[in-house]
Amino acid sequence: MTQIKLYNSATKQKEAFTPIDENHVTMYVCGPTVYNFIHFGNARPAVIFDCLFRILNSAYPKVTYARNITDVDDKINAAALEQKVSINEFTQKFTTAYQEDMANLGNLTPTLEPKATDHIQEMLDINQVLIDKGYAYESEGHVLFDVTSNENYGKLSNRNLDDMQAGARVEVADYKKHPMDFVLWKPSDTGTTGWDSQFGFGRPGWHTECVAMINKHLGKTIDIHGGGRDLLFPHHENEQIQGQCCQSETQDYVNYWLHNGMLNIDGVKMSKSLGNFITVRELLEQHDGELLRFALLTSHYRTTLNWTKDLLTQSQQALDKFYTVLRDTQDIKAGESDINTNPVVMALYDDINTPQAIAALHQISTDLNKKEGNLELLKAQFIQGAQILGILNKDPESYFKSGDGLDEASILDFIEQRKAAKKNKDFAGADKIREELLAQGIEIKDTREGVIWQRVR
Ligand SMILES: [Zn+2]
Repeated sequence: MTQIKLYNSATKQKEAFTPIDENHVTMYVCGPTVYNFIHFGNARPAVIFDCLFRILNSAYPKVTYARNITDVDDKINAAALEQKVSINEFTQKFTTAYQEDMANLGNLTPTLEPKATDHIQEMLDINQVLIDKGYAYESEGHVLFDVTSNENYGKLSNRNLDDMQAGARVEVADYKKHPMDFVLWKPSDTGTTGWDSQFGFGRPGWHTECVAMINKHLGKTIDIHGGGRDLLFPHHENEQIQGQCCQSETQDYVNYWLHNGMLNIDGVKMSKSLGNFITVRELLEQHDGELLRFALLTSHYRTTLNWTKDLLTQSQQALDKFYTVLRDTQDIKAGESDINTNPVVMALYDDINTPQAIAALHQISTDLNKKEGNLELLKAQFIQGAQILGILNKDPESYFKSGDGLDEASILDFIEQRKAAKKNKDFAGADKIREELLAQGIEIKDTREGVIWQRVR
């Protein structure tokens, strides 16, 4: 089998991927904090790691992919309090919305979607283990991780304590021994969200939940942990050190850390204050989910993706081309495609190189159009590659026919009128009907099989 290679943020190099258990690969990706509709930047990790899930599924018999839901957080607590509803009621709406949005982008449902609030006891247990081992301490109703207790703190994100302090707006509080000590548990006032515990009534800090869910559902050491690069510090650094300290010194918490790059809008970082903040939901109202997914996959996941109108136009053209190939090769039966010789899949096995995989799809479609080579093999490679990218799964006819404007019955009516005009040798009249249709965004073509039509985008 061809070797899958992945860039590991922990070692800062591309490495051969070797799972702990060849028969069962484990992957965890940090999901959203559900206090709002998610912004489009959050769609990128979901699509990238869905693609990796498909890659792993093509190579291993079983893959467990967990993507969590952070459903407790100070923003959630404040919003729920303001609306006088429980945090569960408040977060359910946005959890469902997130799951719908992710499905509309063509993502498979992860194997597990654990929620933070279902793992409070597991988080408390981790806090206790860390206290017992001397890595954490209690102070004024808080449990804090002592960042000076383990020399590995900072290794993942390549920072030392001085850098961190200089770069972060750290809360200096007298209950902390060191300003960078981070909160594992914090006290809640009565009337706000909280749980009874051996440390008093309170709520968890963010960084423990992923450790708790990983340990419970996937094991002490997992193969792959993914997320956006913005999570590397402090979230993943703080997660890594807890995961590591919970177990023996020799056992790792995560074997491969993967981080995707950020997303800019027209060259500018997306932010609420700049007014270029777009939610996935807003984009899905304007565009088909497959188009958004394709556009997200056109850049390598580790680069910064620049989201522009041109990117969408080019992506639409590429999808139109690919669906045209599928429509025009409907009579070619797909043969058998060996994963190991499929250039699309090989690009994906090489650190999820989606732009190269898309380039390979272009090459195959050119060959298919020219009717060059082993057409049955090319068709099989085309379909297999597209499946792992999670695209081109619509019926090509309906792809070209779906959309706004004239309904199908009216279009067919025009086509009949044109046929009648041609029969009566009224060619000027037939051309006029064709032009009228084109003006309404409908293109018609005469083929040996009869007249076909499609919407022009
Ligand atoms: Zn996380």
